[in-house]
Amino acid sequence: MFQITLKDLTFDEIAPNWANKIMVLRQEGFPFPFSLAWWKWYFELDSPSECIVGEAYGYSSGYEKKCKQCDLLGWEFGHAFLVRSRMDFKDNMEKFVAHWNETHMTTK
Ligand SMILES: [Zn+2]
Repeated sequence: MFQITLKDLTFDEIAPNWANKIMVLRQEGFPFPFSLAWWKWYFELDSPSECIVGEAYGYSSGYEKKCKQCDLLGWEFGHAFLVRSRMDFKDNMEKFVAHWNETHMTTK
């Protein structure tokens, strides 16, 4: 049996591990460039299965071929991180949540 839920998912529900990491971002900002924490973020955001979109897919990179929009959003997270734009990063989170609820919740 599967349940049909009408409630939109929040970012915390879509990607809980990243939501935790992003909490630190809200308090302290992006990690200091080229610090250990920075590299960790960099490699994770650069990895299709480890990045925010990847987590939403259960740490899989399958979306790269399945959904153009998810693929694009994945790259945009990486870009916002590289230019250290918290505003772009937050905008992208909102775009991703909206896209996820609109496209990927209805097809489940
Ligand atoms: Zn998608």
